[in-house]
Amino acid sequence: MEKLQPVRGTHDILPDEHEQRRFITNQIADLASCYGYNEIATPIFEFTEVFQRTLGDTSDIVSKEMYTFEDRSGESITLRPENTAGVARALISNGLTQSLPLKFFYSGPMFRYERPQKGRLRQFHQVGVELLGVQETLGDIEIISLGAESLSKLGLLEKTRLEVNSLGDKESRLNYREALVGYLSQHSKSLSEDSLRRLSSNPMRILDSKEDSDKEILRNAPNISEFLNEESASFFAKVCAGLDKLGIVFEINQQLVRGLDYYCHTAFEFVTDELGSQGTVLAGGRYNDLVEMMGGVPTSGIGWAAGIERLASLTHFTSKKQRPISVIPIGDNALEKMLPIISSLRKSGFTIDLGFRGNLSKRMKRANLLNSCYAIIIGDDEIAKSLAVFRNLDTGDQHEVLLNQLHAELTRLLPNSGIKN
Ligand code: ATP
Ligand code: MG
Repeated sequence: MEKLQPVRGTHDILPDEHEQRRFITNQIADLASCYGYNEIATPIFEFTEVFQRTLGDTSDIVSKEMYTFEDRSGESITLRPENTAGVARALISNGLTQSLPLKFFYSGPMFRYERPQKGRLRQFHQVGVELLGVQETLGDIEIISLGAESLSKLGLLEKTRLEVNSLGDKESRLNYREALVGYLSQHSKSLSEDSLRRLSSNPMRILDSKEDSDKEILRNAPNISEFLNEESASFFAKVCAGLDKLGIVFEINQQLVRGLDYYCHTAFEFVTDELGSQGTVLAGGRYNDLVEMMGGVPTSGIGWAAGIERLASLTHFTSKKQRPISVIPIGDNALEKMLPIISSLRKSGFTIDLGFRGNLSKRMKRANLLNSCYAIIIGDDEIAKSLAVFRNLDTGDQHEVLLNQLHAELTRLLPNSGIKN
């Protein structure tokens, strides 16, 4: 092994970064809970079929991004590239279709074999919500509102814009697809290689192309809105009206398509200009056919997922952690005396760091490094008097405190620390 590095496109989440992610996840989980969405966790791998049958053979994910392998018994297994299919599978496996509508929140790692770059990883993390069994536009409106509120809670709503579109029902999509292929075929010579390939397999995905040459051609492409049948058009109009009523600002982007087969009707993305070309932070849509595609009873669904890495890189975060208190016993007697006291202070919820070794000056250095607020120093002289020296590390002031008064003193000085009963 030449250089011991994590696998390309993955990385270690060190404690400071982890605290920020935990904060983001909790903020959204708490909000989702107010909306009645309860947390679900599905396995991070599933039978390959779960994704293959539902996301579509021509989707980017299935055609080139899945981590698929045979396990020791020869089963084809795939690390989940997204969580919607897993949630739909769980709905069926657990017989939950009896108790619809259901609302779920999830968070966790997803895996896609993509070209790693800023904002694009091979193991990344998402939080998301799924609303199952609601076919009314009220569902679309609630889900989008929950997305907007989540970003707002993190202070990110102003940094994004909401784009919505309708992919219509199957009939509308087939009609549109035909018109789009007709138009694009006339320009096939100027299409990028990727788009040319998609022309026969997944033409609507071409609308998503980032290539300038494709974008130029797409400017005059037919718009999906002209192909929505009456039912689809009125569904979309109701969603838009509902968003207006809630004061949720959005723009219609006719070229917004979701790359997966199971999407229909409402598609939406919250996009930022602050992250270069990987600007989508939260994206979702309606998937009325997914559960049926998997062999369950027809169950409509709508949901979204947000990339934690992208949310984190937009958020300025300051640690919410308690500053530690460094306990510094000098000598074995002091250590012995302090161990049960430390244990009891920790049980009360104070953050106590015990330097394990070194002389006073080494341990004071560590206390400063940890940004400790106080040092409690105790040597043989102090033990004899059953007290400790209590030093404020910001001011350098120090005073003596009786050992049996330590708890009370810490509670007085740090009223917001410790466990409140
Ligand atoms: P794109 O068109 O950029 O590939 P996508 O349609 O594949 O996006 P979704 O499947 O909708 O993305 O995923 C939802 C969110 O998850 C994205 O908006 C993004 O924030 C995040 N995400 C997706 N793929 C990655 C990745 N490889 N690395 C980091 N975050 C990602
Ligand atoms: Mg992708």
